[in-house]
Amino acid sequence: MIFPSMPRHTKIISTLGPASSSRDTIADLIEAGTDVVRLNFSHGEHEDHRRVVALVREEAEKQDRQVTILQDLQGPRIRVSPVQGGTTLLSEGTQVTISASTSPDDVSSESHIYISYKALAQDVAPGGQILIDDGRLSLTVLSIKGDDVYAHVDVGGVLKSRKGVNLPRVRTSGPALTEKDLADLEVAIDLNIDWIALSFVRNETDVVHLRKHLKAAGHRAGVIAKIEKPEAFDAIDNILAVSDGIMVARGDLGIEMPMSSIPHAQKTIIHKCLLAGKPVITATQMLESMIEDHVPTRAEASDVANAVLDGTDAVMLSGETAVGHHPPRVVEAMARIIKAAEEHWYALPEKGRGLPEELSDVEDSRDITDAVSLTACELATHVGARALVCLTASGATARALAKHRPRMPVYAFTDSPNVIGQAGILWGTKAFQIPFQSDTDAGVRLVQQTLVSKGYIRSGDTIVICAGMPLPRKGRTNLVHVSYVD
Ligand code: PEP
Repeated sequence: MIFPSMPRHTKIISTLGPASSSRDTIADLIEAGTDVVRLNFSHGEHEDHRRVVALVREEAEKQDRQVTILQDLQGPRIRVSPVQGGTTLLSEGTQVTISASTSPDDVSSESHIYISYKALAQDVAPGGQILIDDGRLSLTVLSIKGDDVYAHVDVGGVLKSRKGVNLPRVRTSGPALTEKDLADLEVAIDLNIDWIALSFVRNETDVVHLRKHLKAAGHRAGVIAKIEKPEAFDAIDNILAVSDGIMVARGDLGIEMPMSSIPHAQKTIIHKCLLAGKPVITATQMLESMIEDHVPTRAEASDVANAVLDGTDAVMLSGETAVGHHPPRVVEAMARIIKAAEEHWYALPEKGRGLPEELSDVEDSRDITDAVSLTACELATHVGARALVCLTASGATARALAKHRPRMPVYAFTDSPNVIGQAGILWGTKAFQIPFQSDTDAGVRLVQQTLVSKGYIRSGDTIVICAGMPLPRKGRTNLVHVSYVD
C-alpha cells in the first residue's frame, strides 16, 4: 500500500455548470481534488441539478471519496427583465426610465428598463447608484415620479436580459427567501444536500428564517450566510451567531462596497469565523483568468495563497469550473497553490502564523470541548502524532480541533451522515461513518482499524484521540487519549 503524504488542509469547492456536468468531467474534478461541489440554483433546471447530484455521489463512491454538496440559493437577487431581442445598447449620457416589473409582458429596451424589485421607487433616492451586470453598466438616479425612476447612464454598454442589478447602499426590503428559493429548497431537502448557502443575507433574521424552514422540514443541512452586502458585513457578529458557516462572496460584495475594502472585509470575516470555530469560504474570481487560460496569473496565485494564510477553511471556484475551458486543470492548479502556501505556513514558527491569539484563550469560556480540543492539538504536536481523531456526535469536536489549524489531519468518526457531509467543508477534516460505540476501547480499536485499512496511519504511528467518556453520553468531549498503532 502506498502511504499517502500529508494531505492538503484547505478545501476546494468547485461550482458545477455547463462545462462540468458530464460524468467524465465530474469524475476528473473529484480526482483533481474537489472536496465540495456547489450547485448554483440561480441557473439550471431542477432535473439537471438532480442528475448532477446523482453523478457526483456515484463518482465519489467509485473513487472512495467523500464529496460534500452545497446548494447556493439565489435569494432576493434583483434582475433585469427580458430585453427586446436579447440585448440592447445603453448609451452613455442618455436618460432612461427604470421601473419595477409587474407583468411578464414588461420588456426592457434602451430607454425603459424593467427590473424585478417591487419597492424600487420607494427605496432609491436621487443621487443613488444603480449598477447592472456586475457593475459593468452604471446609472445615477435623477428623480422619482410615482413608480418610475429616472436615471442618467454614467457608464453605458450592452444591456442583456436577466443580468443582475445592485443597488449599493440601499437597504432592500422583501422576504429573504423568494418563491423560487422555497421551491429550490424542496429539491435540497429531497436530495439530502449537506449545506445550503443563502444569497444576499441582510441580517440574522434572514438566516433564522431559512433555519425555520429547514427545521420544519426536518432537514439538518448546515446553513451558510453569504456576505455580499455592506449591511451584512456590518451585522457579521449577529449573522455568524445564527449561521453554521460564512461565505465571503467577493463578487457582489465588491460591487456593493468599494472594491478597496474587500481585502479588509475578507480578513475580518475569516478572523471572526476562526474564533467562532465555524467554517468560512473565500469565493469568487480566485483563478478567473483560467476560464480561458491554462495557467493562472501571478496575482491570482497570490490571492489563493493569501486566503490560505488568512486562515480560510475553503476556497471556491465559480465560472472557472462552471463555464471554463478546462475545469479539472483549474482544480489541480488551485490544489498546488494551496499545498505550497500550507507548507510555507507550517515552516513558520507557531507565533508567526498569524492565528488569532484569543484562539488559545479558553480560560473564560469554561467550554470543556474547547479546552480538551486545544489540549489535544498541543499534545499531538508534542508527541509528533500522525493524526488527530475525534469521536463526535454533532461534529462540534471536529470544528473545535480544526479551528486550531493543527499540522496533522483531523479524522472525525461519527454515526451521523449529516456530520460526515458537513465536515467536508471543514479545514483539514475528513469524516468516517461508524456505528455508534458504547465502549471507549472498542471505539479506539475501530478507529485504528479503519485508518490503517485506508492507509491513513500505519503500525508505529501515534495518534491522539478526543472523545466523550462514557461514550453514550453525547455532546461532551472530556477525554484525550494517546494511542500507539500496533
Ligand atoms: C459572489 O457574489 O461572490 C457569489 C459567490 O455569489 P454568486 O456567485 O451567486 O453571485
